[in-house]
Amino acid sequence: MYRLRSEPSPLTSAFLKLPGTLLLVFDRQGRLKMFSDAWSETLGYDAEELRQRTFFDLLYPEDRADCQEKLASMHADLPTLRFASRCSRKEKDYLGVAWSITYDAEEELFYASAHETAVQLCAEEAHLPDVFVDGLTGLPNRSLFLDRLEHTLHRAERRKDMQFAVLHCGIDRFSVINNSLGHRMGDLLLMSVANLLRNTIRPTDMVARLSGDEFGILLEDIRDVSATLHVVNRVQQKLQFPFPLNGHQVFATVSFGIVINGEEYQQPDMMLRDANMALVQAKSQGGGAYLVFNKNMHDQAVRRLKLELDLRQALERGEFQAYYQPIVQLLTGQLTGFEALVRWNHPSKGLISPLEFIPVAEETGLIVPLGRWMLHEACRQLRHWQARLPGAEHLSVSVNLSTKQVLHPRLLNDVQDVLVSTGLQPEHLKLEITESAMMEDTERAITLLESLKAMGLRILLDDFGTGYSSLAYLHRLPIDTLKVDRSFIRHVHEKETDRHFVETIVQLAQRLQQDVICEGVELQEQARLLAGMGVTHTQGFLYSRPVAAHEAEMLILAGFPSAH
Ligand code: C2E
Ligand code: MG
Ligand code: MG
Repeated sequence: MYRLRSEPSPLTSAFLKLPGTLLLVFDRQGRLKMFSDAWSETLGYDAEELRQRTFFDLLYPEDRADCQEKLASMHADLPTLRFASRCSRKEKDYLGVAWSITYDAEEELFYASAHETAVQLCAEEAHLPDVFVDGLTGLPNRSLFLDRLEHTLHRAERRKDMQFAVLHCGIDRFSVINNSLGHRMGDLLLMSVANLLRNTIRPTDMVARLSGDEFGILLEDIRDVSATLHVVNRVQQKLQFPFPLNGHQVFATVSFGIVINGEEYQQPDMMLRDANMALVQAKSQGGGAYLVFNKNMHDQAVRRLKLELDLRQALERGEFQAYYQPIVQLLTGQLTGFEALVRWNHPSKGLISPLEFIPVAEETGLIVPLGRWMLHEACRQLRHWQARLPGAEHLSVSVNLSTKQVLHPRLLNDVQDVLVSTGLQPEHLKLEITESAMMEDTERAITLLESLKAMGLRILLDDFGTGYSSLAYLHRLPIDTLKVDRSFIRHVHEKETDRHFVETIVQLAQRLQQDVICEGVELQEQARLLAGMGVTHTQGFLYSRPVAAHEAEMLILAGFPSAH
């Protein structure tokens, strides 16, 4: 766990609490117009000595040019800068100080205040440790945030009625913006969101960049939780307008996890951990949401952790099993292949649905070895059937790939290895990917899919219709087949809008020379309707549920699923 005080980085000699408010006022030449008494005490000069120096004299020589450049860039529209620099002390050692400098354009004066905690550096220390300020946004960084939070926790110990809140906020789908518009735009967006947050809170509160696309806000002395919601609302209101970034209008939403102090919190990182837990749940609501941490979330997190540990073991103990669901030709009911669907044969809980564990496997990265196992197992099984069962030669198997797998650099090699080791011909293997995998890094995904197709595999776009911008880029994707999501089929026989949707998809697919598979067909009525629309293949409980390999064998021998 992160412990700032007990494990200082090798470069930091010590954290130092500065005595009182540190304020300097100086002009464009750096001439000091005013300074608070705390400065003489901190730097070791008496007031007269200090008066004879300029602001730049107080800085470590190597930091001067950078600081002068920063100040020269300040103007009426950019009135505040935050950065760190070293200050020389009379005893010839240095302090690392986090500045917040505001420029008054009318008076042409700079108002510089320093954060109350500094780092004491030895004279020979050449580098200012990056303990204070995030280089990109100029915001305080995680170390400084935790440090300030620790001070606040100490204050709250003495003042039992004191309430404060930690807000952990994250930009929703930041990686999509970063990957689609480029990292430069991603940086600009981070800077813009940082500024927005900075301008939304009171000067006495703190906003920091915690990591990547995540920010922390510390709201001190609040009356109750509603004060935090005001902040959230103000941020959300400002986010209704797009950021003008390099000629693009970029919309962003932000999710919040909120935690309020209480006796259970003695460590700053505990508060941040719980705020993060609330953020993760808020994010799962689709973006732009906030959640206040509660005990349930903790219990849920513990359950999730247990599931994760169980999952790791399950892979080692061989508790996963591949099930197979027939894919049939709609007009004849003829079996054309199977979709391989993973099941977890838990020793005490029995068969567990992938809906329960695939999300956890994705988050933890376990999906990569699990997916590799499924790919091998499905190919091995089909090859086995092809070699032994009459009528199995033409069958294909579809294997689901998660986003993490699609973006994994070894995927092509894995597929090649599996085909070689099982002896399955590539034209019998289909890979099902989802739109979210395509959204994450579209260009990379397209290149990858083209390579897979060049190997002779077929690509299916799974859960089609549930993503958010599918139609816009569909023609660019090297896709052979669209699998229309079950949710559109469920009511297709009774809801006109669903029927129109499927009809449109079929027409579009025909124009793009793609096939359509409708999944989730449960009723004859639905099958008849889909056949009338020109859908060629289906999959659903009407024909067969997903079944274990030995049952699938029976279906192959029968030539088509028995339910038809
Ligand atoms: P999916 O790829 O869209 O798979 C189809 C799901 O729809 C399967 O659920 C299947 O049992 C269900 N289904 C098919 N026909 C019907 C029907 O007529 N009625 C109803 N109510 N359901 C039907 P399952 O097996 O629970 O899998 C759920 C999801 O888990 C899959 O959705 C897929 O996204 C994921 N999944 C399953 N196996 C794997 C795997 O090996 N790797 C990855 N990455 N994901 C997998
Ligand atoms: Mg699928
Ligand atoms: Mg699906």
